[in-house]
Amino acid sequence: MVLLEHPGLPPEEARPDSPPEGKEAEEEPKCEVLHVSGKGKGLFARSDLGAGQLVLRESPLLLMPNEVYSADDMDRIERWLDRRLNALSCERRAAFFDLSDCRSPSDDKTVLGIFFTNDMDFGGDAALFPDMARANHSCAPNADFVSRLGRGVQDLVATRDIKAGEEITISYLPAAKEGSDVREVRQDYMRQWYGFRCCCKACNMEVSRAGLPTPCTEGA
Ligand SMILES: [Zn+2]
Repeated sequence: MVLLEHPGLPPEEARPDSPPEGKEAEEEPKCEVLHVSGKGKGLFARSDLGAGQLVLRESPLLLMPNEVYSADDMDRIERWLDRRLNALSCERRAAFFDLSDCRSPSDDKTVLGIFFTNDMDFGGDAALFPDMARANHSCAPNADFVSRLGRGVQDLVATRDIKAGEEITISYLPAAKEGSDVREVRQDYMRQWYGFRCCCKACNMEVSRAGLPTPCTEGA
C-alpha cells in the first residue's frame, strides 16, 4: 500500500474580492450632469465647493496627437476618430455620441462636429473628456481645467466658492480673448466657433445696462 502524501490546502491568500485594508471608500462625485432648459446639458455642484477645490478628475476618452489635430486634413482626422471610436466599448462610444455638435444641434451630428465641439487642450494635444465636456461656457466662469499630464488626467478645479446646485462653468474663450471686457468680442467668438449667443451673467449685465432684449441660448 502506497501512502499518498496529502497535498494539503494551499496557503490562504487574501480574497481578491475583499477590499485592501485602509482603502478609503470611493468619494462621492462633487458634480452631476443635469438638463438645462434651452441649453442642453450642464454640470452642477452637488455640494458646496471651496475655491481651489477639485470638482472632477477625468481621463481622456480620446487623445488626438497634435500632429493629427493640426494637420488640418479633415479626412485624416475623421479616419483617426473612426478607428479610435470603433475600438471603444459600446458604453464609451455611446458617451461620445451623446455629446453635442454645435454645428448640427439636431440629429445630424457628425463625428467631426462632436469632437471639435467638445475637445480640450491637453498638453498641446486634443483630448475629449465626456463629463467635463458638459460644463457650459460663461464669460465669468467659476471653474477652470488643469492638465495633469504625468497622471494622464484633466482636473476641473473651482476658481471661486460654488454653492450646491449652482452650475459649474468654464470659459471656452482662447487666452487672447479671455477676460475681454468687450461683450461683442466675446460674443462674436462664441457665435463663430460654437454657434450660440452667450447669455452668461457678465453678458446679461452689460445687455441690461444697455436696455436690450436678451434671447438666451447658452451660458450661465
Ligand atoms: Zn458671456
